[in-house]
Amino acid sequence: MLLFTPGPTPVPEFVRVAMSEPTIHHRTPEFEEIFATTRTLLKEVIGMPEVLMLASSGSGAMEACVTSLCQTKLLSINSGKFGERFGKIAKAFGIPNIEIKNAWDTPASVESVLETLKQNPDIDAFCIQACESAGGLRHSYEEIAKAIKDYNPKIMVIVDSITAMGVEKLDVSCVDALIGGSQKAFMLPPGLSIIGLSQQAIAKIEERNVGFYFNLKTELKNQVKNTTAWTAPTTIIIGLCAFLQKAKSIGWDKIYQQTKARSLSCDKAMESIGLKIYPTKPALSMTCVYDEASDTLRKHLKTKFNVNIAGGQDDLKGKIFRINQMGLIEASEISWVINAIELSLADLGRRPFDGIANQVFLENYFSLLK
Ligand SMILES: *Cc1c(COP(=O)(O)O)cnc(C)c1O
Repeated sequence: MLLFTPGPTPVPEFVRVAMSEPTIHHRTPEFEEIFATTRTLLKEVIGMPEVLMLASSGSGAMEACVTSLCQTKLLSINSGKFGERFGKIAKAFGIPNIEIKNAWDTPASVESVLETLKQNPDIDAFCIQACESAGGLRHSYEEIAKAIKDYNPKIMVIVDSITAMGVEKLDVSCVDALIGGSQKAFMLPPGLSIIGLSQQAIAKIEERNVGFYFNLKTELKNQVKNTTAWTAPTTIIIGLCAFLQKAKSIGWDKIYQQTKARSLSCDKAMESIGLKIYPTKPALSMTCVYDEASDTLRKHLKTKFNVNIAGGQDDLKGKIFRINQMGLIEASEISWVINAIELSLADLGRRPFDGIANQVFLENYFSLLK
């Protein structure tokens, strides 16, 4: 089965091989060396002064950032399931929260954020997704972050980039916490989250000192010494180290360029067979198509062509499908997926097959890579 869901993504063979070595104890010089290398490589990718790794899925890092960096009131953007999660975290911890809610295809605007900040001078932290995976939407988080810092540099800017880290070069100049997860563009099993931190966030974490398991002050104290507060997920970190070394040898710029070419060309291919791209501002991490018969299509893709793509949730259940673009993906694989979608539309009596989708994909892909 070709796994083309936007998380979890497939784990490549070289990562599986690295993770198949016998488990090593986490309090040893051998593991500390791997941890140190992984920290250095991660800092290079995200371009922030500090980075933490936590034994949790991405939501654990979201929770840790909210509790550590927000004291008085949280402003969060809800353009989908993951943006909604920030509000739920605030609620669970009794942190006052204001949400800017939009349709799942609509990005947040700078104006709405500034307006809300003016009306609520007690807001001290802001949360947004770089890519809201629920509808494959790219928020202009960098513009919004800059506007916030111009307005009040003390407001902490938390960016969930779980489906953007490793997908494109992220502008972190106005970001205090940048969240990543193992099971998306880093092609690892789920269970590790990543947080890039600014100097300002570090100072706030030191000053606040909140929580127990997700106490970022405790983690910082340990991780700068290349160890972790609790037992580290050694196997995943070994896999991450292998992935980051491979990515560096390929070159991140090249990976970003290929991801972009693949994603834009796939969007065009879908449009060439009459399908509609769902978000008004699509992210590069996935191709998200609005299609009211998507469940039938997905089922057919699985049973006849061995292709697994994702559907939608909540109001978008059965109305969209999402094709992963994150990670090291061969053009030949996505090409198979695109061709299978066109063949499926023909099988389902929706449109005769003429091979245009794959043609459009390949022509665009290779012209963008030139
Ligand atoms: C996958 C994902 C998460 C994390 O979800 P977990 O299930 O906790 O790993 C958070 N935000 C976005 C945008 C995601 O795509």
